[in-house]
Amino acid sequence: MKDDRRIPSIARRISRAWFFRTLVLFILLDLLLLFLMHSMFSALFPREGGSFFLIVLAAEAGLLLIQYFAVIRKSRKLLRPLEQVAQTAQELSHYDPAKLHSLEDAIAAVNPLSTGARLKTGDRELQGIESAVNDLLRRTQESYREQTRFVSDASHELRTPIAVIQGYADMLSRWGKEDEKVLNEGIAAIQSESAHMKTLVEQLLFLARGDSGRNPFHPAQMDLSEMMREVYDEYCMICPDRRWRLRADLPVPILGDAAMLKQAARTLADNAVKYTDPGASITLSAAFREDVPCFAVQDNGIGIKQEDMSHIFDRFFRADPARNRATGGTGLGLSIAKWIVEKHGGYFDVFSRENFGTRISVLLPQKPLRPENAPPTSPE
Ligand code: ADP
Repeated sequence: MKDDRRIPSIARRISRAWFFRTLVLFILLDLLLLFLMHSMFSALFPREGGSFFLIVLAAEAGLLLIQYFAVIRKSRKLLRPLEQVAQTAQELSHYDPAKLHSLEDAIAAVNPLSTGARLKTGDRELQGIESAVNDLLRRTQESYREQTRFVSDASHELRTPIAVIQGYADMLSRWGKEDEKVLNEGIAAIQSESAHMKTLVEQLLFLARGDSGRNPFHPAQMDLSEMMREVYDEYCMICPDRRWRLRADLPVPILGDAAMLKQAARTLADNAVKYTDPGASITLSAAFREDVPCFAVQDNGIGIKQEDMSHIFDRFFRADPARNRATGGTGLGLSIAKWIVEKHGGYFDVFSRENFGTRISVLLPQKPLRPENAPPTSPE
């Protein structure tokens, strides 16, 4: 018990010694100042010198008291880290060195990447450390599993277009030189597959950069209504066979990365095109939903099955791979949109019914940037 107190008491002793040294210095300086002032005033005013001396003495005593408390506060603040180190050292000294060695050996024996590997010391006193290490192990294994799955899914996705390109290249080398039909078909297929592969690689790079925190993010003042108007203009031109509608009459100012949010809005518009038939109507909107800035894309397409709803933001998830292949989807669009939206502190609201349609809204709660005169409206 005596030993336990030794280290903090050293810190306390250092603290006390430092404090007394500073106090003595202050007192000496004060006495010197007092002496100088007394001699000066006695020489200038020989009669009032005595009472003046008393006033100065009282003022000095007051000042000394203030200095005393100031020094105490300062010394406590300065020596707090030292006290903490002393405390930690004292806690560590509780452990018997043999126990620490067995803990070291147990940690060294764990393979952090093998699934289910856990630290086991069998010592009740080390249980706190054991559960903290096991929690860290569990999170490391989870993230490693996710990374491995991502790499294996990505390789699998890239294998298909590569195989198709290789197949068409073989076909062209055999028959393409003589047969013009084969030549045109081969060139078109290679063009389309390489475009798909380019999109896939760009999306994979985006997610990999996002995972390692290397995606440039430049938030600035922007207007969601203006952004949706631009997306509307683009899609009216790119996909004239859908009936596009725009509901973005009032400004919806926010602080956001305009390029990234536009990419998320384009993903929603792309999906609306992919999962509807020609002639379907697609509505783009921007507004405040209960004071929260929001943009949304609504279609009257195939909708999403109830059981798929919780997976649509998963990487490489596709409800209908066959349809997806035909439409050129990669299963990464919504994962990227989710990364972007979460980077802005926002979230999604998905409303969908099979064979009826889908509305995906992005809500971006922020500190009020809303103009005074804009009444609350809801995007449909
Ligand atoms: P993809 O590139 O395959 O569209 P996404 O990540 O964008 O990948 O979407 C994931 C899945 O969510 C899609 O494969 C589709 O099944 C479903 N989905 C997304 N948007 C819609 C929509 N508007 N209508 C119906 N299904 C949708």
